Amino acid sequence: MKHIIAINGSPRSGWVQTAVKRILTNELYIGALVNHKTVTSKIYKTKTFVPVEEQYRHENFCEPIIDETIWKQAQFLLDQRAKINPRSSGGRKMHRYAGIIKCAECGASLVARTRKWNGNEYVEYTCNSFHRYGKEYCTPHTVRESQIDELINDEVSSFRDYILSESDRYDKIVRDWLRKNRCMTGRFSCTLKR
Ligand SMILES: [Zn+2]
Repeated sequence: MKHIIAINGSPRSGWVQTAVKRILTNELYIGALVNHKTVTSKIYKTKTFVPVEEQYRHENFCEPIIDETIWKQAQFLLDQRAKINPRSSGGRKMHRYAGIIKCAECGASLVARTRKWNGNEYVEYTCNSFHRYGKEYCTPHTVRESQIDELINDEVSSFRDYILSESDRYDKIVRDWLRKNRCMTGRFSCTLKR
């Protein structure tokens, strides 16, 4: 079995978080088969999730191998964990770019600190090399969280515009293709009639 090989530590097929979550949330383990969870667009090759109420449920599809109470407990715990955010410690709110952004000069992570100025609180990020070892190692490269928010917002907006313009372009290609196809079929049937 693939899963057993993975447990034994094959580097290529390790137990990734998503695989474990898929097992924990699969209702087949309590005997219910759920189909039509996603739909794939044949034109755009995109996958969209179908709302739970529109999915096809087949209760008692097979013999359950997990007790429903235990399964529900697992769902409850998963839900709680998602809300608490396991990456933050001691119930503190995690800074949104913590561990994600790096110093362009030395490659160290940027560490977040909450600052207070004129009664206002804000978060800023500083190069960890500078923070820990001083100016011989790097410069502060301090940046406010709000500035990063702005940069990311601009980037996402331009990406969204690009996607929209591309989807318009593909729409036009499909429309033209359909129109041409209809014309060809029309001509063909006309020739047949004659
Ligand atoms: Zn640095």
